[in-house]
Amino acid sequence: MSSILDSDIKFLPGIGPKRAELLASELNIRTFREMLYFFPFRYLDRTRIYSISEIDPEMSHIQLRGKIVRINLSGDKGRKKRLIATLADATGVIDLVFFQGIKWIKDKIKINNEYIVFGKPTVFNQTINLVHPEIDPANDDNSLYSGNMIGIYSSTERLKEAGFTNKQVAKLQALLMKMAGEYIYETLPSYITQAKKLLPLRSSLKLIHFPTNQTLLNQARYRLKMEELLYLQLSLLRQKNLREGYTRGFIMPRVGDYFNACFKNIPFELTNAQKRVIKEIRADMISGKQMNRLLQGDVGSGKTMVAVLCALLAADNGFQSCIMAPTEVLANQHYKGATKTIEGSGIKIAILTGNTKASERDKILDELSQGKIHILFGTHALLEDRVVFKNLGLAVIDEQHRFGVDQRARLWTKSEEFPHILVMTATPIPRTLAMTLYGDLDISVIDELPPGRKPVKTIHASENQRMRIFEFMKEQIKSGRQVFVVYPLIKESEKMDYKNLQDGYEQIVKYFPAPEYITAVVHGQQRNEDKAYDMSLFSEGKANILVSTSVIEVGVDVPNASVMVIESAERFGLSQLHQLRGRVGRGTENSYCILMTGYKMSKESRQRIDLLCSTQDGFELAEADLRMRGPGDLEGTQQSGLAMELHISDLAKDSQILEEARKIATSVLTEDPYLENEKNRILKEVLSTLKKEERDYSKIS
Ligand code: ADP
Ligand code: MG
Repeated sequence: MSSILDSDIKFLPGIGPKRAELLASELNIRTFREMLYFFPFRYLDRTRIYSISEIDPEMSHIQLRGKIVRINLSGDKGRKKRLIATLADATGVIDLVFFQGIKWIKDKIKINNEYIVFGKPTVFNQTINLVHPEIDPANDDNSLYSGNMIGIYSSTERLKEAGFTNKQVAKLQALLMKMAGEYIYETLPSYITQAKKLLPLRSSLKLIHFPTNQTLLNQARYRLKMEELLYLQLSLLRQKNLREGYTRGFIMPRVGDYFNACFKNIPFELTNAQKRVIKEIRADMISGKQMNRLLQGDVGSGKTMVAVLCALLAADNGFQSCIMAPTEVLANQHYKGATKTIEGSGIKIAILTGNTKASERDKILDELSQGKIHILFGTHALLEDRVVFKNLGLAVIDEQHRFGVDQRARLWTKSEEFPHILVMTATPIPRTLAMTLYGDLDISVIDELPPGRKPVKTIHASENQRMRIFEFMKEQIKSGRQVFVVYPLIKESEKMDYKNLQDGYEQIVKYFPAPEYITAVVHGQQRNEDKAYDMSLFSEGKANILVSTSVIEVGVDVPNASVMVIESAERFGLSQLHQLRGRVGRGTENSYCILMTGYKMSKESRQRIDLLCSTQDGFELAEADLRMRGPGDLEGTQQSGLAMELHISDLAKDSQILEEARKIATSVLTEDPYLENEKNRILKEVLSTLKKEERDYSKIS
């Protein structure tokens, strides 16, 4: 189905090859269609003309109509030049102030002519004026700007330099609509558009660029969002159906000696949530279908034990397992933890990371391929080609958002048939979002923490309280506890960050001198041996303080630690802070999280910090995070492999439409799984053109 909409954007009059390249590199726009689907991200309401007497400084942008009655150029001799044009309507006068482009404005504005002016009221010298408003002759028929809602398109410096002003983009859209509008065909079956009272595609696209009023704009948006989310859900559900249709899963019915022997070693009672989740997983493991399950559980909820127990079940049925973690520190911790659990059971485990010595590695690989190792722990070193299992039956991926989609997919190639897959995350994802990001996964949730955990008291502090914080740390250390001090590490400012950490470390060593106090330090620039050494000092209780970058964010478990100090907390995201806080409060003692910030903070940072001080519920925080930041920023979502690009829907805000779309998609596919019905022909056609869908998402979790 090729159409004029697939034409190269360079053929649009006014673009040409050079600017086409720019559009491609800056905005990913290559065709007419892609241009058409480049939507405004907000709108200015210019449907209404205000009277000057109505203006109050709280208003956002307003539109006025009036005559210029005076023009005044001022500011010679060192003072900043400015031009003041006074606009009058029947109700009053207001000054329009320009500091730049003065010559251009002077040529353009004539006294006694009528203009439409658009700008934001500001107060200066106790009077209201408009600084740098847009100004157009009132009788300009060519103006796209009169009497409508004006779409505002996102732009970049380079685009602006090349002349892609907002007006220009709007003009191109208008032209495009004129040239290609009649080739925009409906993409939803009429039985759906009718049932849901959706506007036709063509008018929706026209309205999204050139809305005539808010109501119609809302309807257009609704239609476009519904379409987008419906196709997203259709493609996810179809993948799921497909996968379930063609993959068989290993069947693991036995609960045997390995499981039972290890189970006896566990020093605590499993929580009900853990038991329930293990049942859910076991049901998959005996179903004959390949498991693809996401396990969500707040930090400290005990996901690792669930994973290990499932691996033991696999072993009882003659299968190997692997448990992959995103960092070496974490992989080590899993491995050490499991060592205790398997004691005396006959289970053989091993760990493989990028730092495993060659001789050791060869031995492991050898035993692995012979099936002598039951459970292999490790980092992404597990993904290398030379890592060959005899019969991999279960692959567990911890903190899955840390792995790229393609990395994860490689695990599938480790087995003749797809192994059962369990991915675990401590980043609680609200249901609607999970449904979309992991639409073809089943979801289990551990919604209960082990008993006896006390809430972590969370405190916001700034630099002038540092000495009090240090004193407090001393008290805690005196009573036998340990303290984390964490510094942010952002790629862009990596050098500065390491310097901050180094300075912080020195300050701490000064204040907490050896041998009375032992301070360990862990960060990315260390040699791996040093890292492992310092980490073990802390985890074995030999160091009182651990200074580190956020490498410890994921999963490190030191129950004796009772204080988490987070430096420059304003630079961390909400879920990151929550994860870090989850490192303490694992024992039965009182524990504390201290958020150190600078004095200056953005409104958002303050919101984050306040929220964190007020609640410890991971799901509540995740919802708030999503609202504040949008899902694009949510950790891991960029690489989660959304089946298609979203132009207009916002997964954080459109959860209702998403639910509706899910319902429609489910009922469509239940009735017509292969979309063979004539009434679904459009759905099938459009689905087949969704580019990214061609990737095999059944292989990606
Ligand atoms: P996460 O879900 O964040 O990965 P972990 O698996 O690291 O959590 O578990 C956190 C701590 O809780 C570990 O020390 C673990 O041994 C302990 N733990 C797990 N399950 C229970 C339980 N049912 N009762 C008590 N402690 C538990
Ligand atoms: Mg964990």
